[in-house]
Amino acid sequence: MTSRLLVVEDEEHLAAGLKLNLELEGYGVDVATSARAASERLVEAAQGVGYDAIVLDVMLPDLDGFELCRRLREAGNFVPVIMLTARSSAEDRVRGLEAGADDYMVKPFSLEELLARVRSVLRRRAWEGGRRTTPSLGAKIVAFGRARIDFDTHDVAVSGESLKLTQLELDLLRYFIDNPLRVLSREELMEKVWKLRNYSYTRTVDNFIARLRKHFEEDATDPRHFLSVRGAGYKFVPDP
Ligand code: CA
Repeated sequence: MTSRLLVVEDEEHLAAGLKLNLELEGYGVDVATSARAASERLVEAAQGVGYDAIVLDVMLPDLDGFELCRRLREAGNFVPVIMLTARSSAEDRVRGLEAGADDYMVKPFSLEELLARVRSVLRRRAWEGGRRTTPSLGAKIVAFGRARIDFDTHDVAVSGESLKLTQLELDLLRYFIDNPLRVLSREELMEKVWKLRNYSYTRTVDNFIARLRKHFEEDATDPRHFLSVRGAGYKFVPDP
């Protein structure tokens, strides 16, 4: 089945170039030149098969891409989003990922790299819509507390209620689960999960830990699984 992509970009020549090249790769591509047009496309698509990924420019005439992405996630839409921006600061990258983006590219980018990342997000999220690909090596089901996580299908349930996590939340969760009882510094988490080296914007890590606690702890103010280690970082404690 053809994957459908939405390109949200107001620079028309760039939007047309992306559409042409993505179509040459075999994707079905729609273009929206504003956040408003993108929202309309998404509402229409939600009545059909929906989009498989969105290539989202940060600089749009009406609403910035961060905000559009954040609203999508709030509305429960977890379609993979690759953000494009002219700005290269790490803060922007983090801002995009905090808004719920799956990947981030700085303009000018190489077309080959964008195509590779599109393929990658489609592979990673192919389980959505029942188009599951071959399970990755090391796929497994993990349970702790009231949670049960299937890293193969990305099905997450807490007390039997299914829960949607962003790709980054899943990646962070997996890193904790793969490193039980080890103290993980914020810097290590930034490097291994966010892929940001020598970077000290550690509040981002704290924000994501707060989200994991909200999802998985019975009492987020008295965590049993995602523990703070004073002056050092965080530690994941599985069930005793
Ligand atoms: Ca733009």
